[in-house]
Amino acid sequence: MEEPRSPALDLDAQLLPHLADLDCVSLRRRRRTVASVAGARISVEGRELIDFSSNDYLGLAGHPDVAASARRATERWGTGARASHLISGHTEEHAALERALAEVTGRERALVFSTGYMANAALASALLRPGDHVALDRLVHASIIDAVRGSGARFRRYAHGEVGAAARVLGSRRAGEARRRLLWTDGVFSMDGDIAPLPALAELCRETGSVLVVDDAHGFGVLNAACGSVDAALLSAGDTPVYMGTLGKAMGCAGAFVAGSAALIDTLVQHGRAYAYTTAQPPALAAATRRALELSRKEGWRRDQLKERIALFRNRATSAGLPITDSRTPIQPVIVGDARRAMRLAAALEDEGLLVAAIRPPTVPQGSARLRITLSAVHERRWVTDLVDVLARSWEACA
Ligand SMILES: *Cc1c(COP(=O)(O)O)cnc(C)c1O
Repeated sequence: MEEPRSPALDLDAQLLPHLADLDCVSLRRRRRTVASVAGARISVEGRELIDFSSNDYLGLAGHPDVAASARRATERWGTGARASHLISGHTEEHAALERALAEVTGRERALVFSTGYMANAALASALLRPGDHVALDRLVHASIIDAVRGSGARFRRYAHGEVGAAARVLGSRRAGEARRRLLWTDGVFSMDGDIAPLPALAELCRETGSVLVVDDAHGFGVLNAACGSVDAALLSAGDTPVYMGTLGKAMGCAGAFVAGSAALIDTLVQHGRAYAYTTAQPPALAAATRRALELSRKEGWRRDQLKERIALFRNRATSAGLPITDSRTPIQPVIVGDARRAMRLAAALEDEGLLVAAIRPPTVPQGSARLRITLSAVHERRWVTDLVDVLARSWEACA
């Protein structure tokens, strides 16, 4: 007798050719399982590697005080928040973290989210509706694009960093008729490490009556102890009414926040779907994050050391003739172009105990596959110089 055909098998039959296609063009993603992490040294599938791929820019993810705060708070609160913020999941730990974030950012209030992806989704659902008009830098983070798409607002992307192109988007007749105009940008671009031209964008927003939204996932706590790219550009809270930062990068924890006026925060509480319809982050995580935030402020040497490592990398890489970009942040991409070559270079580095991410389309535009090197305050100097030496040696070998 014939076995009844399982629908799961049919689905697999539909899925497998696409996965094989991805393989063919070196675009299939694979996850690596990490066995241990100590500072920037990680053990992956039986090998010890120096990690130049994480966003733990200040080395706080492994800080014993942060872990101790999480432990103590877990003793007190248990693990889960048990409910969403609007039901009964909003604890004193969350409230204390929000107060600390409002203070650090110099904004009236702050709201904590479980992830940056969700913070952006909540911002879009709370601030936008169909007919509104959004200008997006060509290279904004995928979470912003998904968020804006989900809102139904009309959006147009402008050439990366080109204020004139952004002006054309916001100055269009269509934009003029919109109820609300937004310009939404990364502060520090996640795959390129360059900083948005915020002073000019803020001026453009003033002139066109648009709201400037800054996603500072890679600037918060990195460029300075407070509002990263916004403070570096000497902009006020009035210029940047919506400031978003994440807590899983420089803070070494998890989650994200939006800082702004009481009216903005309360609007997010009312209409941020990704805020309302999800379980609050664990209270112990909020406690750990508050400790990380304190350390980020108190231990300015971490940022100094990070700056020194960035300068060291850039000097050595320039001498070695590597095609680095003009990024001044810990994100130091080396553009390779071809995805296969980027993979070969990453493999060559890994053979020498150095973990660097090869970033391929669609995460970055076609033809701009790259090694995304990230530096951290806890990288030893000799690791950075080794990285440049090995990369320079591999560069021609992997042509
Ligand atoms: C990482 C990142 C996010 C998403 O934050 P998660 O907390 O990781 O979800 C959003 N925006 C930018 C620019 C990012 O780099």
